Amino acid sequence: MERKITVSQIEKAAREAYEESKDVKGGLNANYIPYLANVDPDLFGLSVTLTDGTCFNFGDTQYKFGIESVSKVPTAVLAMIQHTPDGVLRQIGADATGLPFNSIFAILLENDHPSTPLVNAGAITACSMVAPQGDPAEKWKAITGNISDLCASDPVLLDELYESETATNFNNRAISWLLKNYNRIYDEVDMSLDLYTRQCSLGITSSQLAVMGATLANGGLNPVSGKQVCDKEIASKTVTLIASVGFYQHTGDWLFTSGIPAKTGVGGGVMGVMPGLFGIAAFAPPLDDAGNSVKAQTAIKKFMQKLDLGIFSGDKVSIVEG
Ligand code: GLN
Repeated sequence: MERKITVSQIEKAAREAYEESKDVKGGLNANYIPYLANVDPDLFGLSVTLTDGTCFNFGDTQYKFGIESVSKVPTAVLAMIQHTPDGVLRQIGADATGLPFNSIFAILLENDHPSTPLVNAGAITACSMVAPQGDPAEKWKAITGNISDLCASDPVLLDELYESETATNFNNRAISWLLKNYNRIYDEVDMSLDLYTRQCSLGITSSQLAVMGATLANGGLNPVSGKQVCDKEIASKTVTLIASVGFYQHTGDWLFTSGIPAKTGVGGGVMGVMPGLFGIAAFAPPLDDAGNSVKAQTAIKKFMQKLDLGIFSGDKVSIVEG
């Protein structure tokens, strides 16, 4: 079916989804990273950016929270830019694990394969693949520069979060060395892990993540800056990765109930991509048992339901003035 949705309908749906989700209770801040345990659990923001660059923001949309696993998305984009999507498929994979984000068992089950750049193992491997090899400062510049390009503004390193993560990332150290054992780390091990830890510790706003989502929804062309960040194929392949594993072991339930591919982080951020239409991001610290923000999930689902949208609906939807 051909459908037209107006810009004001979208704004209204976002405002209502925000208002109706504000008092949703449930979930707990991530407690295995001390910094995250202490973030105000009542913070809440919802942002939408359309593929024409129009932005809507409700609530705490300028608060810089830890990007955490949402950072796996831009680094997957970067790895595909530098090594092609086929290179990433070969060197990392694109399979959902169906297991928690930090699963060691998943690596063993996949027969020494990190599975996908959107779980910890694959994301550490993706950091090891970032060029130029052997040069942590330039690699870091490439990682953050790419995030800036996708968001049309810069992320900032939250030093306290970085220290907190570095002091407690024992599980990720085990993952890194296990991957090294299987020849799946393509640069120095500790440096690759450190880049991963640092990228997770970047502060980002929901407003920035909505722009990143909109860039991916817009075939890699950032609608705010006008810059072509990656080609259309990479943008589309990135959305397939998000759709298949964005919520870890809850990905099927999420896609089934929300109708939108989205990626979460334990900082409380969720970034959704609706190809051709918009990017959406919500942020609220309390998480469910898989590490996905409870309130952000509610808000994005409500928004999708109000507009009767779903990626697999078959509708040809266009957004029009009005
Ligand atoms: N830095 C966190 C970790 O490696 C990110 C996890 C997440 O956001 N799901 O455990």
